[in-house]
Amino acid sequence: MSKITFIGLGNMGLPMAKNLVAAGHDVTGFDLSDAAKTALTEAGGNAATTTTNTIAEAVAEAEIVFSMLPAGKHVSAVYTAADGVIANAPSGALLIDSSTIDVDTARAVSAAAEAAGFPMVDAPVSGGVGGAAAGTLTFMVGGAAQAFAAAKPVLDIMGQNIFHAGGSGNGQVAKICNNMLLGISMIGTAEAFKLGEKLGLDAQTLFDISSTASGQCWSMTSYCPAPGPVPTSPANNDYAAGFTAAMMLKDLLLAQEASASADAATPMGQRATELYTQMAEAGHAELDFSGIIRELG
Ligand code: NAD
Repeated sequence: MSKITFIGLGNMGLPMAKNLVAAGHDVTGFDLSDAAKTALTEAGGNAATTTTNTIAEAVAEAEIVFSMLPAGKHVSAVYTAADGVIANAPSGALLIDSSTIDVDTARAVSAAAEAAGFPMVDAPVSGGVGGAAAGTLTFMVGGAAQAFAAAKPVLDIMGQNIFHAGGSGNGQVAKICNNMLLGISMIGTAEAFKLGEKLGLDAQTLFDISSTASGQCWSMTSYCPAPGPVPTSPANNDYAAGFTAAMMLKDLLLAQEASASADAATPMGQRATELYTQMAEAGHAELDFSGIIRELG
């Protein structure tokens, strides 16, 4: 049993923290929202339950600190502020940030942690809220081999596939490269089904042919944006998310930011970002990202 502090008990963090509680760990939660903290205590965890509680108090005895926060600026503040994790956790505690954030911030925060004597990994996830609740997330981990080895047993509680992607920040790199490809392949699949339909080819016939031919991809076979061929895909539920267009856009923007910083050419990633921006501006940000097929006209 380890003493674990979990910071950021939102849609993802709360079910992840609950799985740590269920596995017998001593979990203390911290969030800006009192309701989120109450939900953790109801699941058997401890929590800093009043609004006067601080991160310093939450991490005072931590052996491991997890975070699951919206963006880089929150991660940076939570770890590096004077009242944050690095200044207040016991020396040597293992720090694990599972938020999806920009690569540069992930590397800067890890460097600050390591300079202060804390091993740290970036460990973003895929698998969504369902995977968080079921403990079947995929973790993409960046950091030193020793820190990865120390993190793996706790990640195993919350996830099914745990990958060491290399040094600090590489977890974020893996995540944005994968999701950029997903965004592009979803748009490509949507275009093919839309074109087929306009030319008189029904979705099921195209699916039967293409899913066993060279156009085959996950966006088609597991998450088909056209209604019909894959019964579990959001297309059959009026594009209720799932993985929202807003979340896809967040990851595509992170990929564009990283492309600019690395001087990498990502013209399809750029176009996908533009198309998901249009979907969001049309008021459909909270629909599933496969709903991009309806934006194609
Ligand atoms: P969320 O908005 O539901 O939760 C974030 C939580 O962080 C909130 O409860 C908020 O109150 C808390 N928070 C914000 N700033 C804080 C601070 N300074 N101190 C303490 N708590 C603070 O978001 P989510 O859906 O749980 O996503 C969290 C991260 O996981 C994001 O980076 C997101 O991109 C990533 N992610 C989400 C999904 C998904 O399906 N929701 C899938 C994969 C990855």
